[in-house]
Amino acid sequence: MDWIRGNTIGRGSSAAVSVAKSIWSGEVFAVKSVELCQSQLLQKEQKILSELRSPYIVSYKGNDVTKEKDKLIFNLKMEYMPDGTLTDEIRKQSGRINEQLIEYYTKQILLGLEYLHSTGLAHCDIKGHNILLGKSGAKIADFGCARWIDPAERDGGANPIGGTPMFMAPEVARGEEQGCPADIWGLGCTIIEMATGGSPWTNVTTASSLLYKIAFSGQSPEIPKFLSLQARDFLSKCLRRDPIERWTAKQLLKHPFLEESNLNSTSIQHFATSSPTSILDQDIWNSVEELETINSTILQKVGSTESLLQRVRELGSNSSELERLWNDDERWITIRSSSSE
Ligand code: ATP
Repeated sequence: MDWIRGNTIGRGSSAAVSVAKSIWSGEVFAVKSVELCQSQLLQKEQKILSELRSPYIVSYKGNDVTKEKDKLIFNLKMEYMPDGTLTDEIRKQSGRINEQLIEYYTKQILLGLEYLHSTGLAHCDIKGHNILLGKSGAKIADFGCARWIDPAERDGGANPIGGTPMFMAPEVARGEEQGCPADIWGLGCTIIEMATGGSPWTNVTTASSLLYKIAFSGQSPEIPKFLSLQARDFLSKCLRRDPIERWTAKQLLKHPFLEESNLNSTSIQHFATSSPTSILDQDIWNSVEELETINSTILQKVGSTESLLQRVRELGSNSSELERLWNDDERWITIRSSSSE
């Protein structure tokens, strides 16, 4: 092992993330680790990340297997993003990010999405928790749910539908399709998260009623009235229920809301009301602080998600039975999307 593992800086539903340092070069990086025998998903993520190169995507720094406490551990090494997640930043800014900063982060996320979509990849889990911040701004991370748009070409088969219900597009909640337009919907929900510090959907008490509302209510999340006209127009293009009518990343990059964006990474450091504190600045090797993260929940019914969603599709016209299905909470569990259910 030519690197030292430092503190745990995050924990998701599938793996733990630590900071690490190369023994030879002293370079600091992040490492996402899980026991080798349970690393199928992380290995899939590693394969995807290793193919991506963009200043708006967290960069890949290799992988290896280590022996720690008599266990074999699979490690995905990546660029360390010292300023936490976008969701952390929203909290630091008391739950509301001002519109200029929203513009700045939105443009970077969109540039990342434009790159991903042009390579034929959909991220499938765009939300504040999966946007990481560093000196140069925001980058997209966590490719655990990502899927090639033409899976036959890349994976040799279809991928199961995944993601986080609160950020799911209507066509995904209905189990119909999950492609690039669903990432744009996720971006719209993330903008609402930035503007309000809250969830895109309110007045929903259970995951099942949330999915039912997204899939069949005909509504989109409420666009905050206090945003400028251009910001509201931009959001309305992200949150069109019909994926064909939803704007693409390329189109949105030309929207007037972003064209006026003139913040850069230097001004952004002064702009943020509470300047984010780097874990590196606090001497990570001595720090005892452990940053817990809220799990992103991916809801699957026991058994196969695909078959559940297929059933929902068939039930589409039978609203009473559909409602019963969605409201039957005990038959749902919260787990990570996996192709090997
Ligand atoms: P989830 O359940 O949300 O899908 P996961 O198990 O796939 O999570 P990640 O979201 O990739 O794990 O990472 C968990 C947390 O670890 C992140 O929310 C973030 O706080 C931290 N983290 C991940 N990657 C990095 C990185 N490159 N630099 C700094 N922190 C990171």
